[in-house]
Amino acid sequence: MEYRRLGKSGLQLSELSLGSWLTFGKQIENNTAEDLMKIAYDNGVNFFDNAEIYARGESEKVMGKVLKKMKWDRDSYTVSSKVFFGFRGTENTKPNQNGLSRKHVFEACNQALERLKVDYLDLYFCHRPDKNTPIEETVWAMHNLITQGKVLYWGTSEWSAQEIMEAHMVAKQHHLIGPTMEQPQYNMLTRQKVEVEFSQIYKTVGLGTTIWSPLASGVLTGKYNQNKDPKGTRLNMEGMDWLKKSVLEKENIKKAEKLTALAKDLGISLPVLAIAWCLKNNNVSTVILGASKTAQLKENFKASEAKTKLTDDVMEQIEKILNNTPVKPTF
Ligand code: NDP
Repeated sequence: MEYRRLGKSGLQLSELSLGSWLTFGKQIENNTAEDLMKIAYDNGVNFFDNAEIYARGESEKVMGKVLKKMKWDRDSYTVSSKVFFGFRGTENTKPNQNGLSRKHVFEACNQALERLKVDYLDLYFCHRPDKNTPIEETVWAMHNLITQGKVLYWGTSEWSAQEIMEAHMVAKQHHLIGPTMEQPQYNMLTRQKVEVEFSQIYKTVGLGTTIWSPLASGVLTGKYNQNKDPKGTRLNMEGMDWLKKSVLEKENIKKAEKLTALAKDLGISLPVLAIAWCLKNNNVSTVILGASKTAQLKENFKASEAKTKLTDDVMEQIEKILNNTPVKPTF
């Protein structure tokens, strides 16, 4: 396992990490979650990603139980949570039980610490921007959590470059700690933010990135090729029609089919190729993996070694297949 600095911070994260969205506390049994975390840790993973909304708090509880049981040295791993959506689901949420107000940020952090059974969160993300709370209020709230020792690094998820810069301006003005990292979606099919929108702020504020859905929820594994619709997969879970509709487009499947053939020529699987492709981008601090089975995780870890197979020539072939190079401003 290789380790990368989280942006300009001193923190080193394993280039492959493990997340729990839709799996922990929901799709998979708790013993599978435990096995996944053990395999990850034994393979050098030092970052586990979570959020208050994942399985409405259950995902954090499952992860917390494993962390407690494993008794890994607290200084050998990092764990995150995210605040914004609340943990009760929209229908049961009262005012102040979601969003990025000082009130909810403070409450949600304490709740996450309790569920995860840890004294502090290494990384704490604002899961989405909150149009109803001044960014200044959120920056203060996050800064205060850091000074209280409850959080070490704070960041954003799916914020625009402009919003991230506003947070930095506020932080600078008041001598507060600004956001260290952003958690954007990044994979072969979704590239604009990471490759273009953030390109300046990697340099100016030294933004780190913990990227999500490297396999586009499974489309980039090839299991949906030839319009196959396998049962027991994420895209066939109850309530996931919106996700299926957004990722399972004809054009994406065609690309996955061509990429599967290219991966085969290289002697690797498509998920390994797709994850290695994310790792080729030096602005990615860590690729957060998701897995519903231990075999998937073991396979996906091969991506670290597979990086060397992605030569300039191979990257060019991939670019031709993807045909989605983000347009960069020329001025
Ligand atoms: P992926 O796009 O990699 O999807 C993971 C899913 O793909 C698995 O659960 C599994 O689903 C399938 N899969 C993975 N590997 C294989 C394989 N080798 N062969 C076949 N199928 C495979 O990542 P996620 O979408 O899970 O995102 C990773 C993490 O990022 C999340 O757990 C979460 O922590 C974070 N995240 C953050 C978000 C944010 O807004 N900040 C949003 C989304 C995720 P199955 O077997 O069920 O088909």
